[in-house]
Amino acid sequence: MGLLIAMVVPPTLDLNTPYASAPRLTGWLRALGHRVVQVDLSLELFLRIYSRAGLKRLFAAVDTDKLAYDLTDIYDNRERYIRAIDSVVAFAQGRDMTPVHRIARRELIPEGPRFRRERAERRHAPYGEWGINDLARDLTARMFGDLSDLFRNTISKHYNLTTYGDRLAESCSSFDELEAELTRPANEIEKMLFEAASDTIPADVDLLCVTCPFPGNVLGSLLLGKWAAEQRPKAKRALGGGYPSTELRQISDPRVFRYIDYMVLDDGEVPLQQITALLSGQDVPLERTFTCDSGRVVYHTSAACAAPRFRDLPTPDYEGLDLQRYAHVIYHLNRVSRLLSEGSWLKLTAAHGCYWKKCAFCDVHLSYIGDFDPLSATGLADQMDALHQQTGRAGFHFTDEAAPPPLMVKLATELLRRDRSYQWWGNVRFDPGFTPDRCRVLAAGGMIAVTGGIEIASDELLPKIAKGITVKQVIHVLNAFTQAGIMTHAYLIHGFPGETEQDTINSLEVLRQMMQAKLLRSGFYHGFSMTAHSPIGKAPELYGLRTLGPQFAGFAHYVIQHRSAEQSGQNNAIRDALQAALAAYARGEGFERPVQAWVASFGFPKPTVAPDFVTSVLAEPLPAPKSPPQLVWLGSLPTWSRGLLQCSDQHGELLSLQVPKWMCEALAQCHPSSWKRGQPPLASDFQPSDWQSRFARFGLAAI
Ligand code: SF4
Repeated sequence: MGLLIAMVVPPTLDLNTPYASAPRLTGWLRALGHRVVQVDLSLELFLRIYSRAGLKRLFAAVDTDKLAYDLTDIYDNRERYIRAIDSVVAFAQGRDMTPVHRIARRELIPEGPRFRRERAERRHAPYGEWGINDLARDLTARMFGDLSDLFRNTISKHYNLTTYGDRLAESCSSFDELEAELTRPANEIEKMLFEAASDTIPADVDLLCVTCPFPGNVLGSLLLGKWAAEQRPKAKRALGGGYPSTELRQISDPRVFRYIDYMVLDDGEVPLQQITALLSGQDVPLERTFTCDSGRVVYHTSAACAAPRFRDLPTPDYEGLDLQRYAHVIYHLNRVSRLLSEGSWLKLTAAHGCYWKKCAFCDVHLSYIGDFDPLSATGLADQMDALHQQTGRAGFHFTDEAAPPPLMVKLATELLRRDRSYQWWGNVRFDPGFTPDRCRVLAAGGMIAVTGGIEIASDELLPKIAKGITVKQVIHVLNAFTQAGIMTHAYLIHGFPGETEQDTINSLEVLRQMMQAKLLRSGFYHGFSMTAHSPIGKAPELYGLRTLGPQFAGFAHYVIQHRSAEQSGQNNAIRDALQAALAAYARGEGFERPVQAWVASFGFPKPTVAPDFVTSVLAEPLPAPKSPPQLVWLGSLPTWSRGLLQCSDQHGELLSLQVPKWMCEALAQCHPSSWKRGQPPLASDFQPSDWQSRFARFGLAAI
C-alpha cells in the first residue's frame, strides 16, 4: 500500500477554484499508488473567517487601539456583518442566490469604506435593471475587502483576501524577517489556520506536499510546516511550486529546513516520485530536491531519474475537492476578473512551457517556460472529457504561458468532431497564426476569451523585447478574436529598458484606439522587473542596465534591482495613471480625452501616432495562407432536394440556397460529422475550388 499524502494549498490564493498544481500532482501521485487527500487551506481559512462564529471571534480579537477612522465604521457595524455573513457566503458560493435582491437593494451588507469610493448611483449604473447578480457580486467583493482591511490593520498585518505576508517574501534575499514572523506567537487568523489544518489533514499522514506558487503563500506554507512539526510529527514536509522554482534556486540558509524537510524545484512529478519512494523504504536518489544534511543545505539531482514527457502525464484529479464550496469573488472590476469569478474553472495545460521562449523579460531559462512539450489535441480533449465526467463541470481554464495556435485550433476541431459543448479560455501570444477563420473555429469549438502580452504597443520596442510580433499584427489578431466573439485582455509593461516617454504615450494612444474599436476589452499594466532567469537578467549590460543588488543572503534570488541608463521616468505613479486610463477605456469612458492628459502631471509629450492608425491598419488586406487550408463547415449538415440546399448556418439561421448537388455534397464533407480520420478536408481536395467563397460568410472557415 502506498503512502498517505496530503496535497495542501496554503493560504491565501484564488478563492474561485482550486489552484492548478494540486489536482495535477494528485493525479500523478495516485497513479503511483499513493492515497492522496487534497486540502485547500486557502479556502478553508476563508470559510472559517467568513462565518458567524469566525467573524464573532475576529471582531473580539480586534485591537481597538489600531482602529483608524474608516475602520471604526466597519467595527461599529460588526453585528450587521455577523448577521449577514452566512447568507452572503452562500450567495458567493452560488449555493443560495436568494440574497441577491437584498444585497443589490443595499439592505443586507453594511457599506464600509470601499463602498464610499463611488456614489451608490454611479456604482449601480453599469449594471442596469437586470444586472443585479453582477452588482451583488461586486458589492459582496467590496464587503470582503472592507473586512479584510479591518483584520489586516488590527489583527495581522499580513492578511489579505488572496495573499498572506506577500511583502515579506517578495525577493527577500535574507530569511531573517520570515524567521522572526515564524517564531512569534500565532495571531488569531493563524490560530484559525492551524485549526483548519487539524480538522482536514489526517492524523496519520505520511507526507505533506505544500504547493507555494507566489510570495503571498510563503509565510502560510512555512507556518503549516511549523504546525506539522508539532501536530503531525511523523509526517515529512515537502515544499514546491512557482516560488521555490523561481526564487529559491540558490537557497543556502539551513533555518528554512526547520519548517520543511524537502524543497523541490520545477515540475513536481519526479521529485515527489523519488521522495515517496524513499519514504516507502526504497534506496533511490532524490531529484531536483534540497534537503538539510548535518546543518548544510544540499541540492540533490540524479541523472538516473528520467522525467516523463508532459504529454504522458495523467489527467489532473479533482476527486476530493468540493467545487461547490468555492466562493466566486470578483477581485478587480475588469472582464478577466469577472470571468475568473464566474465559476470553478477546471485547470488544464495544453503545453508545458512556451513555444516562443524568446521574450527578453521572461524566465526563458527556466523549465516552466523553456521546456516546450505540447499535448496532442486528442489527448487534451480526452482530459477535458475525463474532468467533465469526474466533476460535471464544462468550463476549462488553460494555464499555459502561451498556448500554441495550431494546437488550439486542432483542439477546437477535435471538440467539434466529438460534438462537445465546453467553454474554455487561456493565455496566448498574439500570434498571426490566429487568423479570422481560425478564430471562428476556435469560438465554435468553445473558446470564449484570451489573455496575452502586448507589453508595449510600439514597433520601436517590440523587437528589443524579442516579442516576435508587430503592432499591426497584434491589431489584426485582436480583430480576428473580436470578430469571432472571443473576449480579449492584454498585459502591458511599463518601464522596459530604453522606453522613452514618447514610446509610452504612443503605446497608450494605440491602446486607446484598440479599446475604442472594441478589439481589446481590458488590460493590465505591470512595471518592468528584471528577473535572474530572463535574457535581460543574464546580460543586463546589453540593455543598458546596471545592477544594484540585492546582496544574496541565503534565501531568495529573483528580482534584480537595477539602474536604467536612460532613466526613462519609470515609477509606480506613471503606471497607476496608465492603468487608470485603461480602466476608463474598459468601462467605455474617456476616449475623447487626449492620452497625454492621463499623465499630465509627468509632462509627457503628445502622441505621434495618427488618430486613425488602428482603423487604417484594419483596412489593410491580410496575407493569403501559405499552404492549402482545411475547410470546416460550422453550420449544420446540409441536405439537397430539387436544386435547393438547406441547413442552418454558423449562428443557427436557416440557410436555403439554390446550388448544384455536388456543391451541397462538398459542403457536407466539411461538416465535422463527415471528416475522414477525424480531419477536415483540404481546400485542394475539391475541384473546382471557387465554390467555397459562397459559403464563407455563412460559416465555412479555411484554417
Ligand atoms: S512572455 Fe510569453 S510569449 Fe514571451 S517567452 Fe514568455 S511565455 Fe513566451
